Amino acid sequence: MQNGFFDFEKEGLKYCYYCGKCSSGCEVNRLESSFQPHRILYLLNIGMTDSVIGGDDIWKCTTCFTCSERCPQGVKVTEIIWFARTMAVKSGHLPELIMHQKETLLRTGRLHHISHIDNNKRGKVKLPQLTDASSLISEIFKMTKGDE
Ligand code: SF4
Ligand code: SF4
Repeated sequence: MQNGFFDFEKEGLKYCYYCGKCSSGCEVNRLESSFQPHRILYLLNIGMTDSVIGGDDIWKCTTCFTCSERCPQGVKVTEIIWFARTMAVKSGHLPELIMHQKETLLRTGRLHHISHIDNNKRGKVKLPQLTDASSLISEIFKMTKGDE
């Protein structure tokens, strides 16, 4: 299955035989049993790409690569999920949490707001104070068209 530069076949999608070894080793699956990477691959293989990129599951993956390492068929599961995320972004399917993180990143240069309390804690263990990094991040967003 090819979709622009997203070549799922190159990543071995069609070689998946749904043994579930990827899902049984997945740390996210341990916390949330309904998250199953092999199910994502199944949906992609039967052509339900829109349901994958329009859903929330692809955003739950921590990209730890355990699934790719465990797969007996050499399917690059993590890369496939990564491609699906990129397709989702390109087609405007961003979950609210990710949108919020993007806005915080643009505004402060960080994914999470650094408060005085955070900096006080850092000071106590002699770590440098964190400051606003928004101008640098804005520049990177502009160069990569990430703000579009
Ligand atoms: S471990 Fe590999 S073959 Fe088995 S379900 Fe996962 S991706 Fe498919
Ligand atoms: S890369 Fe994602 S899907 Fe694969 S094992 Fe890690 S969290 Fe699970």
